Amino acid sequence: MRYSQLLIPTLKEVPSEAEVVSHVLLLRGGFIRKLTAGIYTYLPLGLMAIRKVEQIVREEMNRAGAQEVLMPMVQPADLWMETGRYKKYGPELLRFHDRHERESCLGPTHEEVITDIARKELHSYRDLPVNLYQIQTKFRDEIRPRFGLMRGREFIMKDAYSFDVDDAGAEVSYRKMYEAYRRIFIRCGLDFRAVQADSGAIGGNFSHEFMVLAKTGEDTIVICDSCDFAANKEKAAVVLRPAAEGEPLRVMAKVETPGKRKVETVCEFLGIGPETLVKTMVYKADGVPVAVLLRGDREVEEVKLKNLLGVADVELAGEQEVFDATRVPTGYLGPVGLALRLVADQEVAAMRNFTVGANEKNHHLQNVNLGRDFQVEAVGDLRRITEDDPCPQCGGRLSLTEGIEVGHVFKLGTGYSQSMNATFQDSDGQGKHFVMGCYGIGVSRVVAAAIEQNHDEHGIVFPVPLAPFTVIVLNLGGKDEKLCELAESLYGNLQAAGLEVLLDDRDERPGLKFKDADLLGIPYRVTVGNSYAKSGKVEVRRRRDGVMEELTPEETVAFLRERIGAELKK
Ligand code: ATP
Ligand code: MG
Repeated sequence: MRYSQLLIPTLKEVPSEAEVVSHVLLLRGGFIRKLTAGIYTYLPLGLMAIRKVEQIVREEMNRAGAQEVLMPMVQPADLWMETGRYKKYGPELLRFHDRHERESCLGPTHEEVITDIARKELHSYRDLPVNLYQIQTKFRDEIRPRFGLMRGREFIMKDAYSFDVDDAGAEVSYRKMYEAYRRIFIRCGLDFRAVQADSGAIGGNFSHEFMVLAKTGEDTIVICDSCDFAANKEKAAVVLRPAAEGEPLRVMAKVETPGKRKVETVCEFLGIGPETLVKTMVYKADGVPVAVLLRGDREVEEVKLKNLLGVADVELAGEQEVFDATRVPTGYLGPVGLALRLVADQEVAAMRNFTVGANEKNHHLQNVNLGRDFQVEAVGDLRRITEDDPCPQCGGRLSLTEGIEVGHVFKLGTGYSQSMNATFQDSDGQGKHFVMGCYGIGVSRVVAAAIEQNHDEHGIVFPVPLAPFTVIVLNLGGKDEKLCELAESLYGNLQAAGLEVLLDDRDERPGLKFKDADLLGIPYRVTVGNSYAKSGKVEVRRRRDGVMEELTPEETVAFLRERIGAELKK
């Protein structure tokens, strides 16, 4: 295509609203424009990059035996009421009424719709397994839409759903998707990890997230240096170190701690380390206050807390809420004699003679012991893992790194098929519930993640498989007819060789053309300029590392076809 005929509204300035590099570069490169919070138009180049991802996803889903469908975006509330999610999903679900006052919503995900298809159209075990997928626009009214395509309210997702006769079948379907996802992200040219993820009520190791490694990632992942362990930190189990042996239980004592309300100040005042103090934090678990006990220098991992309590949502209570629930002034809360549900991190259960708040202003208790001085309703792994913890799989060293979740595979079990009464007739003639799995890829987020991972100070550095064009030909011939002809013929020959080429035919300064080519991130640049008259060669430059070659026009076509072909095959 010709640059002069494409809508590529590049910007010189860095847009002030953009916080992360992919957002900046997508706006500056004229790939997207914002309509309103979290809602974007994909301009020609943006859509081309998205189509590249979609094509790879489609090919690999089809290869894995999944079938493409396209479900409606508008969904009746009735369906969501069957699974109870119309209430539970919360404000991310955009609800509205149509002209007949029928309650409806915009699909943030499609478990309900697909399960409705299954219960109506799949009747016998002979019809199974089935995996149906779509590539479609989703709407989630995110509380904090941000980072451009990374967290939109409207975004493009590939979602797939598998239906099997039993658990063993569902595991096979799950593995197929896991493999398909690996192939997809390898083909996209991304540096990623598949990590164990929280699977909530389902349990087991049947939830993996695919994370693109990038500093701006909103997730933290834990990777072992020695074995293949990799997990979302929400899921990574903390190994409990054996308790210090032999320390006798001492007599509990109340001490004055005037005005000392924070872990650090209490510890400093009492001359103790935070590892000997237990803090009491109040959470609202589905709205009900629960006190959580944790070593002074640790942090709560909320997903673990949610799972231990078996609730849908936990949130730290505010100061006033804590006071209302306990009547204890902030900073002096403790478990002894506290009339509140109590749970403890496993580490606390192994500690002896620790310090806690005395539930009384300006006082703490020392030499407190779980079991002797207070009881808890449950003990579990509630804290965030750190790099000082050993690998839960092999004991090796762990490192923490940031990742962007681009995909998620999840075994659902029979939750949806039971609540929606979706059954098939099994080989023994009995009606059984489908065993389901669901599998998502954030197609538009993949483009943003690719840029987070592949850019430099001049702009985007697209991996070849995702680039809107793989070659840009810069015609710097100006009024020189010979050079213009050469640029045109190179353009034609490169296209004839099957490459996607952008010809910069604009009447612009060379400097601007170079800048734009870099900003847009097109993997190979061919410059047709004055040096051709002397050498009969053009300059071919690779965006990623700036490596240049001087080649004849014929060599250029062969060289690029070979190079780009090889990168697409990887
Ligand atoms: P997150 O934790 O980032 O909110 P999620 O767990 O809500 O993601 P899923 O419901 O598993 O996401 O959706 C499948 C995929 O869709 C995710 O892996 C992610 O790549 C993508 N995705 C989810 N929410 C958004 C969004 N607001 N904008 C763009 N992509 C998204
Ligand atoms: Mg989400």
